[in-house]
Amino acid sequence: MRYYKLSEPHYLVPRTWTGTCRVQRRWGLPGIADCPGCGATWSGFTSYPAIDVSGLSERRALEVLRPEPLAEYKRLAELVSTICPPGTLVQPGTMFGPLHGTARGRFGPLTLEFLWGLLVREDALRTFQAERLRDIVPVSPVFKKPPTPALFELHLHSRGRLHPDCYLPDPAPPCALCGREDVRVHPAPWVDAASLPTDLDVFRLEDNSMYILASERFVEVAQGCGVSDVVFTEVATAPPVKAPRG
Ligand SMILES: [Zn+2]
Repeated sequence: MRYYKLSEPHYLVPRTWTGTCRVQRRWGLPGIADCPGCGATWSGFTSYPAIDVSGLSERRALEVLRPEPLAEYKRLAELVSTICPPGTLVQPGTMFGPLHGTARGRFGPLTLEFLWGLLVREDALRTFQAERLRDIVPVSPVFKKPPTPALFELHLHSRGRLHPDCYLPDPAPPCALCGREDVRVHPAPWVDAASLPTDLDVFRLEDNSMYILASERFVEVAQGCGVSDVVFTEVATAPPVKAPRG
């Protein structure tokens, strides 16, 4: 099976669609400030729009998105984990619930919102569902003035990994206290094919949440919905072949 990485076109490439969003999420886990194990202040980028933390007693603490000491992060992460489905990657900076904000202009079938995730236009969503793309979970963003046709965000599961050999030179073990990995990734990384899910058509990599991957089937259906300002690049499953010297 082939998989494709979703990305935005180069900034110099003219866009087909004028749609833009200014959005954020209301809830999230704090990042970690000055980890006593590794000294780092850090935060990840994963978002789970379909996980609703609004019923938790500590929801106010989850609205404060500044880094917190490790103990406070762990306390909140433990609480949030009780309502997360199995397989949810809970880490510092993980955000929950729908996007809130504004949307302007006209949107294509798919829109990639850097840092946030993947938006799908209502008619394209119906096609995804009719074509039985697997585990498509739409979440309605809370827009001040909702666009027409409506936009939905897809809830993306965290599954699959880059190949271990992509980490240069040898990855140090993660911090024993906060789990942070101090890694450098190969400039042309490839995925660990055996780790990719066979039951999902679109997902994020669990070790690199900036990677949104889609199956060949997803790409075929999405392209059948019309032109989007999203680039699909097939991901390699083996290291790049070195050009012969001389
Ligand atoms: Zn640490």
